[in-house]
Amino acid sequence: MAETKKIAVIAGDGIGPEVVAEAIKVMKKTEELFGLSFEFEHGLFGGIAIDEKGTPLPQETLDICKNADAVLLGAVGGPKWDNNSKELRPETGLLGIRKELGLFSNIRPANVFDCLREASTLKPEVLEGTDLIVVRELTGGIYFGEKFRREGEHGEEAVDTCVYNVAEVERIVRQAFDIAQKRRKHLTSVDKANVLETSRLWREVVNRIAPEYPDVELEHVLVDNCAMQLLRRPASFDVIVTENMFGDILSDEAAMLTGSIGMLSSASLGEGSFGLYEPVHGSAPDIAGQGISNPIATILSVALMYRLTFGYEAAAQAIEDAVSEVLNSGHRTGDIAVDKSSAVGTTEMGDLIVAALKA
Ligand code: NAD
Repeated sequence: MAETKKIAVIAGDGIGPEVVAEAIKVMKKTEELFGLSFEFEHGLFGGIAIDEKGTPLPQETLDICKNADAVLLGAVGGPKWDNNSKELRPETGLLGIRKELGLFSNIRPANVFDCLREASTLKPEVLEGTDLIVVRELTGGIYFGEKFRREGEHGEEAVDTCVYNVAEVERIVRQAFDIAQKRRKHLTSVDKANVLETSRLWREVVNRIAPEYPDVELEHVLVDNCAMQLLRRPASFDVIVTENMFGDILSDEAAMLTGSIGMLSSASLGEGSFGLYEPVHGSAPDIAGQGISNPIATILSVALMYRLTFGYEAAAQAIEDAVSEVLNSGHRTGDIAVDKSSAVGTTEMGDLIVAALKA
């Protein structure tokens, strides 16, 4: 029996609780099959926390997260809170939790399930074999630099500054090399070193660290070229590492390769093995409470948690295989179904994946 791991569960709003319930079902089945052991502690977060505690991120929720080995998050937000002031918006809680937990990288896999290739806007033959991860720096760069307005020679000007220090680049680049080493051992570092000084520093640091990972093949690609190559030859990428703004854009582009938001998992990591795992999608208020949301993105986030935080590779692979098997046998939730009338609901999809899990 593996050591008991503490999981903070923050289901959130809208479809968050529905999809998180299915992910927990899958975790419980893997406890049985792989001798794993989890202790779940639930916390309020987002809109529901505003309603019940008067803040999107109550201190007790933060304490539950800080005490845990990993966090499983559903989604937050909804029209009910859209017109609230900034401090009372669910999304403010998201920024707060990332900052408080020291999460400096965001990891987004984009892998195309063969049976869903038709759902993408790209040609199936271009997509064949696509299985990549974007590692995005989350706490530095132009989004966090000094911003101001001033009176210039030609009138009003706006200034955004982009700053990166060596330590910030080093920690994310090492993390990306570590991930690449556990995969197909290919790392693409994306920058704009032909024009930006921060990018030149980025590239220097990457080149300095590379010899520590002699088994990982490294390539540098300029961000504009990378945006093109993602559409032209997506299958040739393994791990892409890049700074905050480039990563924001490229990870959304990569996400679209797979065709459906209901399938996309993500992780935000800090120092050590701690991580927060969540689906890429939001709280989908338009379908909340109907039992039709796709739980696969959240279930695949559990596979990411097993792999990146706990090193439970066999159980992670078993979850991904179970998802593939269920999709290959033709089961679909409404968002990925061609024939909507035969779509399965959220709990049924969860049950099918649980039933397909094998040790
Ligand atoms: P969304 O991702 O919630 O929904 C976009 C569309 O995709 C909707 O039509 C929705 O029904 C569909 N969809 C999303 N997830 C699905 C799933 N699992 N199964 C089936 N269909 C799914 O994005 P939005 O509508 O722009 O935002 C809704 C709310 O969620 C907003 O309040 C927004 O701020 C919030 N949001 C939260 C997060 C987060 O918690 N990390 C991320 C994005 C948006």
